[in-house]
Amino acid sequence: MKNFASLATLCLAVCFAPAAFGWNAFGHMMVAAVAYDDLTPAAHAKVTRLLQLNPDYPKWVSRAGGADRDEVAFVMAATWADAIKSETGYQNDGDRPSVPGAARNIGYADRLQHRYWHYIDLPFSPDHTPLIGPVAPNVQTQIAAFRKTLSAAGASDALKSYDLVWLLHLVGDVHQPLHATSRFTRTQPTGDAGGNRVALCQRPCRNELHAFWDDLPGTGKKPAVAIRRANRLPRPDRAVAAIDDESKWVQESFEIAQNSVYMPPIGIGPGPFSVDGPYRNVAHRVARQRLALAGARLAHILNEAFR
Ligand SMILES: [Zn+2]
Repeated sequence: MKNFASLATLCLAVCFAPAAFGWNAFGHMMVAAVAYDDLTPAAHAKVTRLLQLNPDYPKWVSRAGGADRDEVAFVMAATWADAIKSETGYQNDGDRPSVPGAARNIGYADRLQHRYWHYIDLPFSPDHTPLIGPVAPNVQTQIAAFRKTLSAAGASDALKSYDLVWLLHLVGDVHQPLHATSRFTRTQPTGDAGGNRVALCQRPCRNELHAFWDDLPGTGKKPAVAIRRANRLPRPDRAVAAIDDESKWVQESFEIAQNSVYMPPIGIGPGPFSVDGPYRNVAHRVARQRLALAGARLAHILNEAFR
């Protein structure tokens, strides 16, 4: 406990990252679209009802036809945890999970943005720089907490709705490799915040490695387009898709980050580095696999929770 406290204190000073978004809205919609097709009738009925309790529900479905309404709501709901970062009425409580209320789970009365729920910074170093471990709450602790609520008999539908909407988003985030790591190097001894501090071009240009990976799914805001695009993702291996332990999802992303993200032409340190064609091809392939896997696993845990 003492070690944790001193680690937390150290982290207050050094280890917090600029904001990271995770897959962009288009990517999160694709993950949800994959999951939607795999829901059981029982899970479909339950999530449809719960999503109607979200304050943004009328906005989500305002342009959807009757036949598409439930799917559009489900797909849009996966973007809500990012949307509240720019909606009025929500407070930016920073990137430090040590703020009061960081780990609370109280439903829609909670107006904190909880940006630190979107990732976990498992550290590694290619040059033997001392590592600083991750702090809680983080994406892994929150996925576990929200899954528990969804299957809890005593939890209210209002709380289940809030937790469901967060879960739709975070299962996507945790499959973005850079949401599970921070790279520590001699020139970046406090970590690179999941590639947020690795430049892909000279200043004042602001492209960085994290955003490059966030945008790999493609861009756009239309749920119908994301749903169509999701249909063209590769089908994941059934046994791999059936892994339902969120700590294993984190570990996978952590390993992929080290093996497929921090690869030449991405060198050690803050850059700038220029990504080339071969890097782009690998990145696209990995991203498509991760989106498909996230969707399959999301359906799996919702089907389990709402049996
Ligand atoms: Zn996110």
